[in-house]
Amino acid sequence: MKEVTSVPEIFGAMVFDDRQMRSRLSSKVYSSLRKTIDQGRKVDPSVAESVAQAMKEWAIEKGATHFTHWFQPLTGVTAEKHDAFISPSPDGSVIMEFSGKELIQGEPDASSFPTGGIRATFEARGYTAWDPTSYAFIKDKTLCIPTAFCSYGGEALDKKTPLLRSMEALNRQALRILRLFGNTSAKNVKTSVGPEQEYFLITKEMYDQRPDLRFTGRTLYGARSPKGQEMDDHYFGVIKPRVQEFMCDLNEELWKLGVLAKTEHNEVSPAQHELAPIYSTTNIATDQNQLTMEIMQKVATRHGLVCLLHEKPFAGVNGSGKHNNWSISTDTGINLLSPGETPYENAQFLLFLCAVIKAVDDYQDLLRLSVATAGNDHRLGANEAPPAVISVFLGDELSAILDAIEKDIPYSGTEKKIMKLGVDVLPAFPRDNTDRNRTSPFAFTGNKFEFRSLGSSNSIACANIMLNSAVAESLKIYADRLEGAEDFESTLHEMIRKTISDHKRILFNGNGYDDAWVKEATEVRGLSNYRTTPDCMPHLLDEKNVTMLTSHKVFSKAELESRCEIMLENYCKQVHIEANTMIDMARKEILPAIECYSDKLSRTVSAKKAIAAGLACTYETSVVSRLSVLADQIYERSGELEGAILKLGDASTVIEESASIRDNLLPKMGELRAAADEAETLVASECWPFPSYGDLLFSVR
Ligand code: ADP
Ligand code: MG
Repeated sequence: MKEVTSVPEIFGAMVFDDRQMRSRLSSKVYSSLRKTIDQGRKVDPSVAESVAQAMKEWAIEKGATHFTHWFQPLTGVTAEKHDAFISPSPDGSVIMEFSGKELIQGEPDASSFPTGGIRATFEARGYTAWDPTSYAFIKDKTLCIPTAFCSYGGEALDKKTPLLRSMEALNRQALRILRLFGNTSAKNVKTSVGPEQEYFLITKEMYDQRPDLRFTGRTLYGARSPKGQEMDDHYFGVIKPRVQEFMCDLNEELWKLGVLAKTEHNEVSPAQHELAPIYSTTNIATDQNQLTMEIMQKVATRHGLVCLLHEKPFAGVNGSGKHNNWSISTDTGINLLSPGETPYENAQFLLFLCAVIKAVDDYQDLLRLSVATAGNDHRLGANEAPPAVISVFLGDELSAILDAIEKDIPYSGTEKKIMKLGVDVLPAFPRDNTDRNRTSPFAFTGNKFEFRSLGSSNSIACANIMLNSAVAESLKIYADRLEGAEDFESTLHEMIRKTISDHKRILFNGNGYDDAWVKEATEVRGLSNYRTTPDCMPHLLDEKNVTMLTSHKVFSKAELESRCEIMLENYCKQVHIEANTMIDMARKEILPAIECYSDKLSRTVSAKKAIAAGLACTYETSVVSRLSVLADQIYERSGELEGAILKLGDASTVIEESASIRDNLLPKMGELRAAADEAETLVASECWPFPSYGDLLFSVR
């Protein structure tokens, strides 16, 4: 084991954080920058110049030689283009330079990033703009400056720009509500997120032997291991030494980068683990989660391991998700999703709670599609992750309170009485005791909501953009009503009552994995059930969604059209690659392996019969016969899959193409896999070309 380092000493060592700003900037520059960070004021160019100088000096002291604008294009991973600080000097030497202009704006040649038709190639240059609210950091000797990425027309080409816009929309509407409740001190309202990240670790040696893992991040073949997760012995189990070393190293790297990595444990599936940081402001949490995923992979390599972030790397055991713990709070430290102490605070809490309930019901489709990817389609609704139906879990106590308010009946908690909002104190209800319902996609856990449908490789930006925007819309409707109300308290009471009665269909405390729930949700309650990415993604362009998102200036119509296109394109490309990989593996490795083993058995039969002609050779003949049938199936099904790939060319839109993938390609991939997986169970391990599930899942000790 490595020597233990002092955590406070290394924490944030590679971050140009507030401590660095305060000590390296003049007080005038510092206070101007703080205003930009805290209140969203525009950056003054002279301030940018001073900040750039201080940042450069700090970065060079830390050994950095390059800088980069770090951004999140729609590929789903982060992008960076490194520029050295060097600038030639007349005497032939170099000096290290970095200007305010270079800090504020960059122009990556971005013609190869997805734009969904927003940008013609002749104007291929996009530009990146510094996000001063997310601290710059050093990674691999490079000063990374978190930025937003836009086209020259100002259209967002990344995930961060709309995220910042959605936070601003929520801020605007939430402040209106707070003012109505007499709060004049809060200057801004921000959302916070703590994302819990799941992942798998396997050995690099085995990973290298699997083309499916290398090309697609998941196994496309693989017979079940004799042991899977059925004993529940991995969940919270003792962490193996090699994994422990990886985690120590990972924590240290993350701490240096200012990521508050806090909790780590083994998850349900063998080889599956989780890391949770302490929550932070949403845009920072988003940047840091991207960084966390990147560092996880890098640190794993150092330990001879590979970190799999795919949502479903292995069939038959749980896949990986990401829980997005989300809350809203003021700059004065009030969590608006925390029940208060006074009647007014309670009423305010209930109003924000109702705003979320209404938002989730009105925009179920947006929340669903914000987590939709080819990978996540394998989890949602597969009894290991929340169903594709979106619903809200509140717990029995809070549900009973809402029920009493809706019906104007006494709440039978502590003392029986009819509650009048703004007048009565909310009856005390035990918080977060029974809220261990892990099957709900969207659960209230005492002072925050946990959105559990995200896939492990998802950027958390998309989910939070939709969540922030939808809640901003509820709050806007409330604020419009309340600002014009003659009697604030009775209007408030009536509005809350009406929200509960209009939206209670979205509330569900039962078992989300139960088939009966999906039936009830869709048939009785009329909730939507979009099982796959092709089912939900086109709804991004439904009129109500476009109206809401454009009215809050989170997206323009053109941006939404381009995003829908890109998300579906990503889906199509990913499954397409998977199908090609399956065919390749079948033809070049699986069929030859089957032939090789059959040949071996056949030769054994001849040899045995030469010794004793009357021997039955039952084992050899039956295995060879079955393998022959399976080999034919694998051959035919590969051909059919190839045909289905060719047919994708007939689709005239990406929506059609994605539907054809869902209806033709994926089922054919399943059929091909079934034949190959059965063959794997019959062929000797030494002849099978890939490490088995048992090898992969139990490889790290
Ligand atoms: P679990 O869900 O595993 O029981 P917790 O609920 O304690 O774990 O915490 C999970 C995550 O929620 C952590 O990242 C934590 O920092 C985050 N979290 C806690 N409080 C809040 C909050 N008010 N807003 C957002 N995230 C929070
Ligand atoms: Mg949790």
